[in-house]
Parts: sequence; structure tokens; C-alpha cells
Amino acid sequence: MSYFRDGGHWWGSCEHPKLVTIGWMGKPHPIPQGAVDPEDVARLEQLIRHGWTPEEIESTEACSFCFDDPDTEPPWRIVAGQETYLGWRNICVPGKTCIYIFPDQILHYIDTHGYKPPVKFLRAMRKVDPKDPAYEKRCDELWRLVAPHFY
Ligand SMILES: [Zn+2]
Repeated sequence: MSYFRDGGHWWGSCEHPKLVTIGWMGKPHPIPQGAVDPEDVARLEQLIRHGWTPEEIESTEACSFCFDDPDTEPPWRIVAGQETYLGWRNICVPGKTCIYIFPDQILHYIDTHGYKPPVKFLRAMRKVDPKDPAYEKRCDELWRLVAPHFY
């Protein structure tokens, strides 16, 4: 899976001070460790199911800590009550002055590798209702700002 620095501002073809990458883990970069509240995990699951995504990933990449071959089939998991594989969605969360982007594999890093996302991101994530149209509108506005070439 592509690695982007936790809290960094560069994501593939996008770079912007208001774009913040979260949960893009990869070897050899150590995974930040800590306990995550089960309620936060449940919120992340809801976001992965219903959250706003600028694009789905066409080819998935397996976790580089678990598999040497990036083409290994990605992990399956129950996400918000439904079995799915991880590794094909990127989800956005608007912050006060930025937009966070995280991969659905964040659940794998939390479950299997003890990853703890930054507290600022968790706070922003708790405020989001993925089914509220205002959330989608805000994501769309911010994404146009940080990645105008996507439109
Ligand atoms: Zn792994």
C-alpha cells in the first residue's frame, strides 16, 4: 500500500497545505502505537461505508507489513455489519481548516498493528455524520480547493 506520512500534505498527485494524510502506513516507517476507543472504530466503519470519497482505488495493494507481495488479496473484514474487503476506498473528513484523507485499510492497521491515528483527526472524525448532506458539501468544497485537477 502506498505510504504517506501521518499528518503530511502530499497524497499522490495532490499536494496542498490543507490536505492531510492519515493512516497510510507502509514499511519501513514505524506505525504510531496506541489504544483506539471501540466507539471510534465504529465511527470509522460508518465513514468507510457511507463517507465521501474522491475516488475509489482501481487496484488494491496489500499491507506491506503483512505481505511482501503487494498483489496479495487484501484483508476481508466485517465493516458496519457487512463483510467487505479493505483496500479500495479513500475517505475524507473535513477538519476546521483542512481536509483529511484516509484509506479503508486504516481498520487493518488498527486491528492488526495497534495503530493509533492522530488525536486531531479523531476529534474531527467524531463530528462527522456521513449521512448529513452538509458533510458531503463541505468535503466537495475542500477537495476542489486542495485538488482542483480532480475536477
Ligand atoms: Zn498488516
